This record gives sequence, structure tokens and C-alpha cells, in this order.
Amino acid sequence: MISLWLFGISLILLQPLPVLGAKVTDIRIWNAPDHTRIVLDLSEPIQYESSSQENPPQFHIELKGISSHTLKREMDLKDPFLIKMSLVDVEKDKVKLVLHQKRPLNVHVFTLKPYQDKPYRLVIDFIDVAQEKKELEERRKQKEIKSKGTKIVVIDPGHGGEDPGAIGPKKTMEKDIVLRVGMKLVDLLNQNKETQAFLTRKGDYFIPLEERVKIAREYGADLFVSLHTDGSFNPQARGSSVYCLSLSGATDEAAKILADKENTSNILGGALLRPAAFAKDPNLNQILLDLMQNNSMKESFRFAEALLENLKSVNSLKYSAYRQANFIVLKAPDIPSVLVEMAFITNKEDERLLNLNDFQEKIAKTLSSTIKKYFEP
Ligand SMILES: [Zn+2]
Repeated sequence: MISLWLFGISLILLQPLPVLGAKVTDIRIWNAPDHTRIVLDLSEPIQYESSSQENPPQFHIELKGISSHTLKREMDLKDPFLIKMSLVDVEKDKVKLVLHQKRPLNVHVFTLKPYQDKPYRLVIDFIDVAQEKKELEERRKQKEIKSKGTKIVVIDPGHGGEDPGAIGPKKTMEKDIVLRVGMKLVDLLNQNKETQAFLTRKGDYFIPLEERVKIAREYGADLFVSLHTDGSFNPQARGSSVYCLSLSGATDEAAKILADKENTSNILGGALLRPAAFAKDPNLNQILLDLMQNNSMKESFRFAEALLENLKSVNSLKYSAYRQANFIVLKAPDIPSVLVEMAFITNKEDERLLNLNDFQEKIAKTLSSTIKKYFEP
């Protein structure tokens, strides 16, 4: 009996350790003017249950099947909408996160599956609806208050927040470089009355691609320029390139691959597409829309050609002509839209250039002078 009992024990000990549950491996917080996004990295999918409390305003989310985490019991958040996050152990494998809000907020929770180097993610968005509405109204107002003859330009620094974009050998991130160049470009364009420029994003947070198009349309933009830096597995690839939309397939395989890559921004960045916001307007006439799109594309080609001509003196060109593919961010039917890959961040020399203030200024100046010239009658 005894030996059998011992045998039984050793059998149990020889079993591989069972997987006890998910690990929370990281937490990131991104601030935008109208929302704050909290992202938890998870080793595997989990179940969660959430509830809100009104007074004081709090959001509770219970995470089930958690084996371990590195979260602090209390985390003060330097955030416009949230005060702190506290953690309560509920049961052995269940923890509760309590988010203490400064005021009532709309909360959206969703999960993201692993993609590329990103693990399972749990995303909690805290949205200040009043602020969101205020920003939308301010954008819409620009059309009405602009002085006669002024052209509105919307500059879109690609990626942001959860989506770093392409990353260089020295870990330079595309999202940071394009924001810096975007800010310089907006300043240059706003130095005179002929153009008035706005950014789609002003900090390190993510905006879904469709939302960027919507922002440009709310401003009543006369031109939309999306800023990017290219990335390649080939470290030798370098140079600048310019892209326009194609409605019927890409001009070549490389352009298609690039558009697919830029379009995955929504997956990496975590786009929560609220269906109502992106539904087609039934009042828009399709024939009229096609006519508008045709005209916008012709104008995009005209701008792209002029830009390539001017970029030549700043950096070597990857392609001497603009290329076309199905970029989501270029799809505004009524706004000429181009996407600029300023240089290859994955190339050592291009990465060095992209980090130089002087180079960033040169790119911004080239874009600004091409934009001004483009609007000249
Ligand atoms: Zn990009």
C-alpha cells in the first residue's frame, strides 16, 4: 500500500506543471485630447467583466484566469481624465482593476489578437464625449471662419500610440519622426494667410485610418498629406517615395505590399471602429462621388509629381514617379490626398538623416513650398 501510494505521488510530480493562467506582462497608457487608452499585454486570452460606478466616477474591470502580473497595487496616473488605478485581488486567479475617473466618461473595452510582435491585448478606452464633440465642432467651424482665398491643409503624421510604425536599427520610431516633421510643416504653412494647416494627431496616440480621413473632411481640407517613413527587411533599401490612391489595384507589387503594410496600422494601433461613424452616407449621390473622386485623384497626381521633383534635392528618390495603391488613409473622395515616405528608417544612413533636425526641416520646407505652389492659380 505504502509503495503504491508513493508511486502515485511521484507520478503526479512527474507531470509537467499545468498552465495556471494568463500573465499580464505589460501596461501602457496613451493620452489623446479626447480620450485615454489603457492597454494590457496578456500571455493568452482572458475573460473579463466590467461595470461602472457613478459617484465617485469609477470603472471596474474584473480579469479572470490571471496567474501573475507585475502591476502595482496603486498607480497614480498623470492623466487629464483619470486619477489613479488600483488593483484588488478578488480570488486566487481573479483580479479587479479600479480606474478612478476625474469625471464621467464613456468606456469601451475590447480585445486584440496577437499580430506580428504584439501579444493578446486588452484595450480600455476612456472617452470624454463632451471634448470629442467640442473638437469636432471646432474642426467644422474652420470651414466657415477661414478668410477668402485661404486653403486648408491637413497633415497626417502616420501611426502613433500602440502602433510605432517602422523601426530603425537604432530604434528610431516612425511615429515620432513623422510627428516632428508634421509639426514643423504645420508651423511653416501657418506663417502666411494663403494656407492654414492642421494636424490629425498632435501627440503619441493612435487614430484609426478612417478617422483621419473623417478629420480631414470635417476641416473641409483642400489637400491631405499623410507622412510616413518606409521600412524594409533589406537594410540597403533607401530613398523617398510618394504614393496616391488607386481604385483598381496597385501599380506594382511593391506598392501593394506597402499599402497593405500601412493599412495594418489599424490592427497594430487598435482601431475600434464604431459602425455608425463609418457607415456610408445614404444621401451622397454615387455618381457625384465618383466624379469628385476622379477630380481629387487627378489633383493628387499633379501634387505628387511636383513633390517628387522638389524632393530630389533633399534625398535620393526610391522611385522617380509616384506609385498608386489602395491606401485607406487616401480615400477621401473630395480631397486630393498623397502619402509621403520621407526615407527608409530601416536604412542606417536614412535613419541618421531622419533624426537630424536639419533634415526634418528640409523635408518640411520642401513640402511647404510644394503645397504653396500647388495652390497658386
Ligand atoms: Zn507608415
